[in-house]
Amino acid sequence: MKKDHEDFYQQAVRQIEEIKVADPELSDAFEFYCSILIAQREVSLSFQPDLCGFDAEVYLSRSSKGLLLLKAQDVAIDRSRLNELLENLCRIVQERRGDVIPAGFEVTSLSDQERLLTKGVIENGAILQEMAVQAKIEYDVFQLIAEQAISPFISRLAEELAGHVDQSKWLRGYCPVCGKEPIMSKLEEETGKRWLFCPFCHTEWLFKRLACPFSENDNQESLRYFFVENDEAHRVDVCDRCKRYIKTIDSRQMNSGINLFVENLSTLALDIVAQKEGFLNGSLLP
Ligand SMILES: [Zn+2]
Ligand SMILES: [Zn+2]
Repeated sequence: MKKDHEDFYQQAVRQIEEIKVADPELSDAFEFYCSILIAQREVSLSFQPDLCGFDAEVYLSRSSKGLLLLKAQDVAIDRSRLNELLENLCRIVQERRGDVIPAGFEVTSLSDQERLLTKGVIENGAILQEMAVQAKIEYDVFQLIAEQAISPFISRLAEELAGHVDQSKWLRGYCPVCGKEPIMSKLEEETGKRWLFCPFCHTEWLFKRLACPFSENDNQESLRYFFVENDEAHRVDVCDRCKRYIKTIDSRQMNSGINLFVENLSTLALDIVAQKEGFLNGSLLP
């Protein structure tokens, strides 16, 4: 099953094609994600992050002080590739959601502001809100396009920088590279270690096994989990203190080659149950 040479996007698209067959009702939604992943992959394959100005010492010291590895100012994004991806994303979103992008909207008005857009996505959401108003695009649509456009660039950088995260010390509930909240967690096969997954830059980082990533609550009386119907490989960890949840995959019960982006999509039934019970998750997906 597992293909070693596959990149993240290829693996995700292949696995989504597989789950699509089992769940035809959601096939439109799955198509939508595949189109986004395919557009992002083009950028990911052709973008070579500029690491000349990178100082390994600076990164190691940021991480050990509990600071994020990346600041928006470190990220140099290729404007023409960004423009191309934004055009593709606008088209994909428009095809699925109808008239959400105003007729006269110029993608270059965004790609020309690539630094501001990056800052809005990884540091300061208020900037994104202002940009959405200027572009006359609903905020949730604008946020989706902006995040999905910046994601492959950041994820290439994250790949290069992954070695500078001190996994044994970080142990926080947010991504050590970009600061986003996790969308899934995974229990490791042999060691039982628990890893969190960032849907934005695709970093996986080590976290405490018995704590809530969102409030860092580790009082076992207010933490619990549940499964649905005969599927013990997937569960929902809920925190009664902050009323949030995260889905966890037990990789001891699964084949190798797990793509957590796809696992998140294939376990929507768990989100429905958790949300009915009044719990919220953090999600970059629409
Ligand atoms: Zn991240
Ligand atoms: Zn919590």
